[in-house]
Amino acid sequence: MKWLKNSLKILAMIITILACVSASAAETQAKQVVRVAFPESKGLCETYADGTRGGAVYEWLLEIAKYTNWEYEFVEDDLMEAIRGISAGKYDLMGAILKIPGFGENLYYPDYLIGFNNSLLIYNKDDYSIKSFDVKSIDGKTIGVFKNAAAKLKRLHNVLDFNNVACKFKYYSETDDFEQALNKHEVDLLLVNDTYKNVSDYNVALRFDAEPCYIVAQKADPVICAQLNDAIKKIYEANPNFGETSFRKYFPVNYHNAANISQEELDFIKRSQPFKVAVIEDNYPFYFREGKKSVGIVPDILSLISAQTGAEFEYVTAASYKDSIEMVKIGKADVLGYFANEDNAVGAEGIDITKNYMTLNSTVMRNKYAAFYDNRSVAAVINGSTASRNIKHGSVVYFDTYEECLKAVDEGKADYTRLPVAVLEHLYMRDYYTNITPVVDSPKVYLALGVNADRDTQLYSILTKGLVNLTDEQTSKILSNNTLMSGKKEMSFRALVYSNPVTFSLIIIVFIILAATLVFMYFWFKMKNQVIYFKMKRVENLSKVRSEFLSRMSHEIRTPLNAIIGLANLMRLSGDGDPVTQKNISKIDSSAKFLLSIVNDILDMSKIESGKIQLESRPFSVENLLEQLRNIFQVMAEERNINLQFKGYFTHKNFVGDELRLKQILINLLSNAHKFTETKGEITVTVLESAVSENSSALRFSVCDTGIGIPEADLERIFGSFEQVFRKSRSNQQGTGLGLAISRNLVELMGGILSVRSEVAKGSEFFFTIELPVYQGQLEESLKNNEVAGKYHVLQGKNVLLAEDNDLNAEIAATMLEMQGVKVERVVNGQQAVDRFKETLPGTYDLILMDLQMPIKDGLEAAVEIRALERADARGIPIIAMTANTMQEDREKALSAGMNCFIPKPFDVEQLYQSIEKFLN
Ligand code: ADP
Repeated sequence: MKWLKNSLKILAMIITILACVSASAAETQAKQVVRVAFPESKGLCETYADGTRGGAVYEWLLEIAKYTNWEYEFVEDDLMEAIRGISAGKYDLMGAILKIPGFGENLYYPDYLIGFNNSLLIYNKDDYSIKSFDVKSIDGKTIGVFKNAAAKLKRLHNVLDFNNVACKFKYYSETDDFEQALNKHEVDLLLVNDTYKNVSDYNVALRFDAEPCYIVAQKADPVICAQLNDAIKKIYEANPNFGETSFRKYFPVNYHNAANISQEELDFIKRSQPFKVAVIEDNYPFYFREGKKSVGIVPDILSLISAQTGAEFEYVTAASYKDSIEMVKIGKADVLGYFANEDNAVGAEGIDITKNYMTLNSTVMRNKYAAFYDNRSVAAVINGSTASRNIKHGSVVYFDTYEECLKAVDEGKADYTRLPVAVLEHLYMRDYYTNITPVVDSPKVYLALGVNADRDTQLYSILTKGLVNLTDEQTSKILSNNTLMSGKKEMSFRALVYSNPVTFSLIIIVFIILAATLVFMYFWFKMKNQVIYFKMKRVENLSKVRSEFLSRMSHEIRTPLNAIIGLANLMRLSGDGDPVTQKNISKIDSSAKFLLSIVNDILDMSKIESGKIQLESRPFSVENLLEQLRNIFQVMAEERNINLQFKGYFTHKNFVGDELRLKQILINLLSNAHKFTETKGEITVTVLESAVSENSSALRFSVCDTGIGIPEADLERIFGSFEQVFRKSRSNQQGTGLGLAISRNLVELMGGILSVRSEVAKGSEFFFTIELPVYQGQLEESLKNNEVAGKYHVLQGKNVLLAEDNDLNAEIAATMLEMQGVKVERVVNGQQAVDRFKETLPGTYDLILMDLQMPIKDGLEAAVEIRALERADARGIPIIAMTANTMQEDREKALSAGMNCFIPKPFDVEQLYQSIEKFLN
């Protein structure tokens, strides 16, 4: 049972506690609802769009509620309706009411007012006859008054009487008319409250006694009246400034007196303006340019001073803060745009500093890793300014701009700097600083104007008069306009990178990939080029080896061929042997010549392929060329009963070109025509000249036959190396298949194209056109006509020194020459030739025939030595080279060694005689 008792006790306790809690809850909810008339009135009773409220009266009501436990029920009503309503018991409270006699019978005025209402006499800004510091200046003027403002008017009368001033009055009952009275110049002055909304548009001539205003209650409810009075009393006891503070919050001083510029000062302004203002170039937010317009805090302040004083200003820019001070000191400027300091007491030497016109918040930025508030710390300060005395520091470094100061701190050159917040914001937008951090510290920076201390004091007084009359509202508007606006949005590259890290990372990655690709490609191509270079080198070496081989081989083959052809010639010329022997000798001769032509062709083709053929440019006669061809082919044609014709249609006869190669082409074509034309056929060689310009002509060469023709399918193929048309009937046809290939290449080198037209069984035409310069000079007779009379009587009795190491060749040459009555002396090498020549008397030999390739001393060396000898005939004696090396370069070497001419081996008897005769003549 005992436990039951205990349990009941506990239960009873819980119930008791719960009851107490709910009772106290009910007590807190018991708020008294008070009805408040809330007539909209700027600064006093304000209701905002979102339903919230404000105003000095509202703040008072909130404070009162804290002492009374009231809960308000606000009712927006017209002012007069509200007063009537409270008298009739419709509302409990309303505010702010002046004490109007005979007005408040039903209203309860507490013992304590809630604020003051100043009265102002305002006048138009352009009315210079009124001076705010001289009450007498309103004597005789007309004052506009609102009819109901009896209390205000009474006080005005008191003030005017006291100052012994008489004015006229004009009364208005309509608000609109009253407000327009000054603008329409119906009155000189208007009597208003300092809460009048347009007050800042006018100048204030007089400000006088305040009118107290009250929050009133309905007399019928004494409890509320007592509570109200008690609450206001307690509020003042707690904070005597409550009324003043709450009123100033909504009614800042936003009216000003006109600057009273004296006549003397006006004259000074007229005389000296525009005043030059020293500012720092591009110095946001103090001074910067928007297009051509000067903007910023300084221009805005000065334009207000201009409006007050009529003075005009223009701007001269300095590179730094210090320079701007300097400009004023040395008289380059009249006014210092801004003097910035932590406290106004500190001035600059030689400069008179005016009253502050603006206060800026500043902040201290310090290097994250540096010591701060320390006797060792280094302050960065702009040149011309001083370091803050409130921050401990050991030394100071000076910079021209705030930006440089901030950079110095960021880079660790200084430990901290102090600068206006607005400037910092701007710098932060422009650039990115990694190593700085703000210090929570908000000392102010004061801005003032400055003038040269030694100059006319009038400017100082004018500026001061202008500054004194600036209102807080005006300056704070200028500050916010110049600092809250975005300013200049230009960003440094660094800031751009830091604010777009992803984009810039991507750009860098892409850039690196591109660069890597380029580097890779560069090395790849370089490697490829190297490979190509080595391949080319190899090919070059191969072709060198090949051409050396060919040259050696041709020499080796030509030497025995020389012997065969020479011996055959000798035997033929001797006339020995029966006709059968002679016929065999002829066959040996023609076979050897054919073999020689094959060797020549192979050599030519290899030269063409290795690009070693060089054309000569020498004057020659076309007529002569045709004549030579006729000589070669006429006999052959006659033997086979072929009609060989040469047709020349040309106006010029002499041209410049490679006659030998041209002859080689035509011989090729003509021998083909002979080979493939039957007996009784016809072969026609045509040369047609057509003028291209004054100095050159196009020559068309054509070799036409009535032979077997070429099938169409083979027309292109036959120009290839070793290509022939397969013909069953002519299986024993002689030829290598190189002739046309060589000819086509040579024609191409001459700038033409060798073409063919052909029809099987009807004939073929091979033709080409080349352009050659016309030779204007005269050709030597010997060049013109190489054909020399059959008998070489000039040779008779001449002495020839023959240098030849090969016995057989020497024998052939000697025999050939001796047949023409030449006396031959033979030596076996170059050295012997030189020695022999030296030993003999000048004039012993008429000519030297010199082989080029000889042991001990070759022909070239020997020729050089002979030509260098000191004797009468050393220079003049003809030296003729004989060699199986017939390449162009061999020919050139012989000529440059001082030899006169070059006879290729194996030599043609006729050619040998002709060459010798030419020089013995
Ligand atoms: P080759 O005459 O030494 O065989 P070419 O290169 O001079 O070599 O000629 C190649 C081939 O072209 C000849 O074998 C021949 O079949 C053909 N050909 C050349 N000229 C004529 C021509 N005038 N008439 C018929 N066939 C020709």
